[in-house]
Amino acid sequence: MIAWIHGHFHSMKDEKTVYQQIVTHQGKIILIDDEIDLSACDRVIDFKGAHVYPGFVDAHLHLLGYGQHIMQISLDGLNSIEDIIAHLKPYRDKTVLFAEGYRDLGLTRDDLDRYFPHQRVFLRHSDYHGLTLNSSALHAMGIDHPTGILKEEEASSVMTRLPKVDQKALEKMLEKAIDSLYAFGVTGGHSDDLYYFNGFFDTLNVFEDVLPKKPFRTHLLMHHMTLDDFIQSKKSWGIQTPYLELGAIKMFYDGTMSSKTALMFHPYQQMTTQGEVVMGQDAFIQVLKRVRHHGLTAAIHVIGDRGLDEVCDILLAHPPQPHQKDRIIHAPWAKVDTLMKLKKLQVTLDIQPQFLSSDLPKAWSHFSQRPELIFPWKTYLKEGLILSGSSDAPVEIPNPLQGMKDAIFRRSHEDHQCYALEESLTPFEALKCYTTDANALNFISPKGLLEKGYLADFTILDQDVLTMKEHDFDRHHVVMTVINEQVVYDITDKA
Ligand SMILES: [Zn+2]
Repeated sequence: MIAWIHGHFHSMKDEKTVYQQIVTHQGKIILIDDEIDLSACDRVIDFKGAHVYPGFVDAHLHLLGYGQHIMQISLDGLNSIEDIIAHLKPYRDKTVLFAEGYRDLGLTRDDLDRYFPHQRVFLRHSDYHGLTLNSSALHAMGIDHPTGILKEEEASSVMTRLPKVDQKALEKMLEKAIDSLYAFGVTGGHSDDLYYFNGFFDTLNVFEDVLPKKPFRTHLLMHHMTLDDFIQSKKSWGIQTPYLELGAIKMFYDGTMSSKTALMFHPYQQMTTQGEVVMGQDAFIQVLKRVRHHGLTAAIHVIGDRGLDEVCDILLAHPPQPHQKDRIIHAPWAKVDTLMKLKKLQVTLDIQPQFLSSDLPKAWSHFSQRPELIFPWKTYLKEGLILSGSSDAPVEIPNPLQGMKDAIFRRSHEDHQCYALEESLTPFEALKCYTTDANALNFISPKGLLEKGYLADFTILDQDVLTMKEHDFDRHHVVMTVINEQVVYDITDKA
């Protein structure tokens, strides 16, 4: 038995309940406050007045993609072509130059050829739905393309044809990602990884090898292209180990805002296009029917307001089993009429508050007409929907405190204005998104409260989220991260 004392243990069952000490045993909370006899405990850990929350969970990210991002050339934050070229020049001795985080500024194959005639250059767009290649890279991939700017299916087909990453390198990527998440106080994540690297079996092996050594509550979505592999594997759906679960089938309805492929009710600025259903609606429905046939749930990427409306219609026509819930990922724009459909569905929403601060107001410059509802999280809550907070890392940094800040204050990084404040969440609601409600679709339970019988996963901060001022969120507050009673991060070790 381990006693954890002198903390402010936020139960999260309501805003007020805070305990002073708890005892855990075999990975669960078993005693609270007055029930505790310290002399009966094997170990005592003193939190010295820190604030303790149920372990933070990121409800949608790409663990391997994030690990790769940490290890690769990053173009994050570079907003001019000159800066990008200057940043890449030192790598001219590489035969293959792969860089991430490129904000599509319209660089073409010819532009890249001028500076990098001999290397194969791959610039991965920051929305992860596009790639820009130079001539040598296009040639190596057997593609004839006028600009080298590839979007959606064209881009993803290049990604899947790149040489396999060796297993050791994938393990390293996963370890790097998890270490970084520990430091952000994150104890678990819902990750979409099984399609993009070495295929279902090898990639799953990486998780099976690493997680026993490096505990992290990992819930893996399964990309629809891996559905056959999953069926063939004869693995059961749900819990694999205390650290690994297999979850919903990841499907893409539309594209992204920056690629102008998100499906909107109104055409994009100076264009006739309104976005697209990336695989076509018939094919999408066929895949969903297969998902239902196997008794599984869907996790559907959708960005555009029209995309969301159509997904609602499709899910109403093809619901999951009565006890199941699908997940809708993103849903930043919506039409008021769509809410009536949305609340009838058996779904939870995986939202990315950090997209607001990164994308507004720039995203509006793409539209001919603004959507009716803008990152409408308060509205979603009022309609009774469950919101799970996430970063979509490596798209955003997987720091839940940044997500909570954006959910509460809604301030743009670009012009420092706050947008649609009527949609702001309270600090308690924002915290719930990354704790209690981020666990809504976990199979291992109960999780997400500090109450008896719940898992001993904690995030410990030096300040209370519920009383933080806006600028407080930008500081590092994580003093300790605990998973399954084990301290996996301790700030005093880093000193
Ligand atoms: Zn994603």
